[in-house]
Amino acid sequence: MKKAIIIQRMRVEKEEGFFKTRVVFDLKVPKQVGLSSNTLIFEYDIDDVKANGDAAIFSLLPVAFWTNVDIVIGDAISRSPFLQKNVGKICAVWNKLFDYKREVNIAGGRLFESGRTPSLKSGLLFSGGVDSLASYIDKSSEIEYLLFCFGADIFDFNKFNEVKKRIDDLNMVLNKKTLFYSTNIRRITDVPWGQILHACALLGPALVFSARIQKIIISSTDFQDIAENHAWGSSPLTDKYISSSNISVEHYGTHLSRLEKIKKISHYPAYLGICRVCYQESKQYNCGFCEKCLRTMVTLILLRIPANQVPFPSDAYSLDHILSCMSRLKKCKPGALAYWVEILEDVKNKKFDLSDQERLLIEQKLSDFLGDFYYEYQERHNNLKFYKKFLNRTKTRRLEAFFHLPADSLQFLNLWERFLRAKYYYLKNKIRRA
Ligand SMILES: [Zn+2]
Repeated sequence: MKKAIIIQRMRVEKEEGFFKTRVVFDLKVPKQVGLSSNTLIFEYDIDDVKANGDAAIFSLLPVAFWTNVDIVIGDAISRSPFLQKNVGKICAVWNKLFDYKREVNIAGGRLFESGRTPSLKSGLLFSGGVDSLASYIDKSSEIEYLLFCFGADIFDFNKFNEVKKRIDDLNMVLNKKTLFYSTNIRRITDVPWGQILHACALLGPALVFSARIQKIIISSTDFQDIAENHAWGSSPLTDKYISSSNISVEHYGTHLSRLEKIKKISHYPAYLGICRVCYQESKQYNCGFCEKCLRTMVTLILLRIPANQVPFPSDAYSLDHILSCMSRLKKCKPGALAYWVEILEDVKNKKFDLSDQERLLIEQKLSDFLGDFYYEYQERHNNLKFYKKFLNRTKTRRLEAFFHLPADSLQFLNLWERFLRAKYYYLKNKIRRA
């Protein structure tokens, strides 16, 4: 029999301070799972939390899948009847993306029946970034609440307070409310956040809001078929199953490219003003130097959005600054660089209103930089022992033949990234198990 993470008890505690309710799950964890704590903790800024086992099961599901264990939940804790079915569907997608043959069995728990009401009030998972702002614009009439999670990408209370203040300002204009909550899952596991953990980590703890909403909207990261073929924690194929008897989940926005999303937001100065793309642990709202800041700024500059409308440091908001930072970007992950190829293609396809001289300059700079990237990325990974053999076999030209695509096309970059990622995590995990 497979080992299991055991969710032994659930406690709901009242707190003094910003977060009013704390839900604590006591866990018993096999050593191979490698959690750094035996308690899973969610906090909420409201009183009417409908605590249930689904929240914990979904939060732990990527961890259980990654370390190949089951989940057992105490009989006193309630959970949705169709949860095992949903877990099976999610695991089937992950097996395809990560090249595994695994199942996570869910045992125990007290089943609760559907209490979904016909009125459909939605909550939007909201980070203040490009993806969620674009969804907000499209879906604002059905959205009652913004759901903001602390402990996902913001760990610093000062930054949290700054983002909170900007969201509160926006809500004053739009008459929406925000539900703030937190999770400690990212702190207690080293299962890859981007590739598998984040949607479960964000959606799981939000499945207790059934007194207020019946649907949660999560915004798509990727575009069209990339969204379905990319090993990424949030996907249109999995997110809809991270739901409970009382709350459904919609993955929204795969029809919009990054450029289309930024264009959409740029029409609304109030939204653009709160846009937060930066994940650097810096004091600034957006640092203006990291890859994500540079990428977003270059698009806004090419769209000719003036500096006083954008939430970036004014000295960083210029094409000269961005182009001078290009060489630093070689250390970026290929996933991020796929967006730069998209920008290059948008420039080439004249989607920006530029003079010929401007267009040629940007084309030249981006092509040079992306050319370097192919080389650098391979060199760096050649140093890894287990990766060496694999990469020696798969130089760019051979990959071109393998994919039947030219190396400077967007499809090539996306396919390559997915291919390498799946292989990389598969091998890494295999070594850890050995
Ligand atoms: Zn930044």
